[in-house]
Amino acid sequence: KQEVPETDVEPTIKIDNLRKEFDVPGGIEVAVDGVSLDIGDGEFVTLVGPSGCGKTTTLRCIAGLETPTSGQITHEGEDLTYIPANKRNMAMMFQNIALYPHMTIVDNIAYPLKVIGVPKSERHEEAREAAEIMQIGELLDKYPGELSGGQRQRAALARTLVQDPVAFLMDEPLSDLDAKLKVEIRKEIQKVHKRLEKSTVYVTHDQEEAMTMSDRIAVMNDGQIEQVGTRDELYNYPVNTFVASFIGNPSINYFDGNVLDLSEERGAIDVHGTTIEFDVEYFSDSLSGSDVRVGFRPIAVSLEMNSSGGQFEGSLELLEPVDDRALATVDGPEGELRAHIPTNLPLEEEETVQIEIDTTDLYIFDGETEELVA
Ligand code: ATP
Repeated sequence: KQEVPETDVEPTIKIDNLRKEFDVPGGIEVAVDGVSLDIGDGEFVTLVGPSGCGKTTTLRCIAGLETPTSGQITHEGEDLTYIPANKRNMAMMFQNIALYPHMTIVDNIAYPLKVIGVPKSERHEEAREAAEIMQIGELLDKYPGELSGGQRQRAALARTLVQDPVAFLMDEPLSDLDAKLKVEIRKEIQKVHKRLEKSTVYVTHDQEEAMTMSDRIAVMNDGQIEQVGTRDELYNYPVNTFVASFIGNPSINYFDGNVLDLSEERGAIDVHGTTIEFDVEYFSDSLSGSDVRVGFRPIAVSLEMNSSGGQFEGSLELLEPVDDRALATVDGPEGELRAHIPTNLPLEEEETVQIEIDTTDLYIFDGETEELVA
């Protein structure tokens, strides 16, 4: 019934079939393998995925720090693919902040303006403004060594602000910060983005970071983009089990199942001897066989002790507080599964629990291709 939604942005930066190979001993390493992505004017797009999936290489190609093996990158129709980094006017921010240790903060922030010949008083004025935005106005005369990690990161962000770039490119800028600072600087980056409305490409391996900051998220795996979408699209309509597992915390559970009946209206699936029936909201006719993976999020699982007649039975292994709920780890019919449940339920570890899955919240994947079918 319902289609996987498509987004339609007016692109300013276009990446077309990007491929990047590196020569490595004994052959080549394909770091990016056919990536196409449109970044809208003023849009915040995040590349997310596990270590080594090609996020950084993609970003470095956009920045001009790597030359693609093939493919094209354009900005407002202009081919940038072989334009050197310093001619692209893109501001890059990395995880290890390279402030010049022998320069004061104001000189550090103003440095990109010095490079292009802006007079000192003018560039200091702009640096002061950027520092005010980043709330480090009182640190301008200090040296980087006198600043905390968070303050240094703010200074680095201020330095990218003075450049008035066509786009911001950020590679895990928060990964060296502790949890509290992470949230603080994350908010700061979001504020700056709201204020300046510059196209931003942000790289992280942290799906939560991606989910909180981005207009759209591109989930990468093994040099390719698995899916691009808003947080809701990725969460509600993950195209395959890779995206379903990567997006959402705590992460989704799966049971093997066998389709008894699946139409545009209703589904019935045998899961470990229990028949699960549900209304089909999203339906794709690409179901090739009858073996499926039934995905269900921890939030869709309820547990009960001292009762009978749940859909499944398991043993409660661990209860831990997570946010304002509890995360239960249950040894179920297919090994470990996670339930994100209210606190204060009468549950005890190492006891038998009845497991109920909310059938309005199921994700059905083809057992072979692992693609979403219902
Ligand atoms: P991480 O989150 O760990 O930084 P990533 O998703 O950013 O990972 P990349 O750094 O883009 O991934 O790397 C993608 C692949 O390309 C990896 O297998 C990596 O080892 C390889 N690679 C990256 N740069 C080079 C290089 N200069 N020479 C050889 N191989 C490289």
